[in-house]
Amino acid sequence: MTKGQCLCGGVTFETTAEPKGASACHCGQCRRQSGHVWASAYVPKDTMHITGDVTWYASSDTAKRGFCPTCGSFLFWAADAESTISFALGALDTPTDLKMTRHIFVADKGDYYDIADGLPQDARS
Ligand SMILES: [Zn+2]
Ligand SMILES: [Zn+2]
Repeated sequence: MTKGQCLCGGVTFETTAEPKGASACHCGQCRRQSGHVWASAYVPKDTMHITGDVTWYASSDTAKRGFCPTCGSFLFWAADAESTISFALGALDTPTDLKMTRHIFVADKGDYYDIADGLPQDARS
């Protein structure tokens, strides 16, 4: 079981699926919304159980970003056409039993930091 919650606890989520693709996204949207890079993994949408009130922001014509309207925690990303939902690794209860596997959208990374952990880097997704 993987469980998490927002900062205020108003939104909780859990899934019995094994999270896949633990990565850090350096795109401008994730950096603006999270304050830096956004670390996430994904599971099938139908295995994710969310309680509480999530505000969904359509950041493009193809995807939505979910956050807690009370405390602002950026928790979810979901593409309309995909059957998976990504969730914030930083929101998980520990131990997570997960390890970051790669960096994505590094072509859009900020100029104020370097990536030096040796993990694979993809220019795009
Ligand atoms: Zn909250
Ligand atoms: Zn991103």
